[in-house]
Amino acid sequence: MVTGDSSYIKKFNRNIILQRIVEHGSISRADLSKITGLNKATISVQVADLLDSELIYETQQEHTSVGRRPILLSLNQKAGYVLGVDLDYKKIQYTISDLLGNPIMNEDIKFDTDDYHAILQLLIKQINLYKEKCPDSHYGLVGVVIGIHGTVNKDDQSVLFVPKYQWHNKDLKNDLLKEIDLPILIENNANLSTYAERVFYHHDCNNLLTLIISSGMGAGIMIDGELQRGYHGYAGEMGHMIVVPDGESCTCGNKGCWELYSTEPSLFKKIAIHQGQDLSYQKIKQLIKEQDKNTLADIEQFIKYLSIGINNIINIFNPETLVLTSEVLTMYPNAIEKIEMNLHSSVSQYNKIVLSKFHNRSCVMGACALAIQTFLEIPKLTLNPPEEK
Ligand SMILES: [Zn+2]
Repeated sequence: MVTGDSSYIKKFNRNIILQRIVEHGSISRADLSKITGLNKATISVQVADLLDSELIYETQQEHTSVGRRPILLSLNQKAGYVLGVDLDYKKIQYTISDLLGNPIMNEDIKFDTDDYHAILQLLIKQINLYKEKCPDSHYGLVGVVIGIHGTVNKDDQSVLFVPKYQWHNKDLKNDLLKEIDLPILIENNANLSTYAERVFYHHDCNNLLTLIISSGMGAGIMIDGELQRGYHGYAGEMGHMIVVPDGESCTCGNKGCWELYSTEPSLFKKIAIHQGQDLSYQKIKQLIKEQDKNTLADIEQFIKYLSIGINNIINIFNPETLVLTSEVLTMYPNAIEKIEMNLHSSVSQYNKIVLSKFHNRSCVMGACALAIQTFLEIPKLTLNPPEEK
């Protein structure tokens, strides 16, 4: 097994070197050797291979005070592109990014069906179109990752259940692979959002919890640097935690579930009672600015119930960082301070609660990042916050 072992080690070294190049942006061979502990000959051979494959390129440093100007190595971010997809209810977000996670195209497509086969055809048509439209590059479109607002089997990535569509046991990945010649991965949307927060913003946080309250209630849990999926992939269904005894009836069969009180759709419904019209984020922003009494009371109530659930999940997970993904909280003054004022217990411990900076695009950005990490085959991906084109 000597051959196997040596090729395994080569691959391992290649992946570590590439990971460090991505992480540092640009780095010399000498510094790579220092950081990885690999000798200069190994670095030299691996770097030559990576240059051959056009995954990296060399530049000479512009200014140094004395001595030779070192040659720096960087990832060739335009060597290929990835496609991230967020399959939400009657709306799909698509983002194409380069290999450093910078979006070069965002598109949101709405539709009016919940039929699995119709939506499957929409995905096939659109993904194949993006494959053709992808900018000219050495590798072209290298992978697709699709976020599902439901549970995904952690072993074979089949879709177990999507509540809003009422889909059970759909083999979406293989149905797509019959018509699309690209690597495809399927993952839960909240897991992708959590992964995005870690890749782009919270690089050193290993105990990270993300709550997506912008559509349904989704939670992504990262413990010791690993996403938690549970026995079959059902972990993180916190929206059905009961926070109000004998409260409102939920589609799950219980009463008083958290997501009936603490998601943006539930808040929109309450504000619509006195606004009596179709609401948009823009409209809510305006109502906040005008200090509309009813709207402010609804948001305060929303924050109160949100805090009850947050208190409970902090007690369960003891997160270092809790990220909330919500446009309404982002536009509401002092939202985080108000939530923290409701967390009195000396037992619930966390380091910080922050708002997501992705503006409802954390799932697609996580999808792009996962496609990049899979293509580059690196053990950990660290990127700068995405720059819009
Ligand atoms: Zn429920």
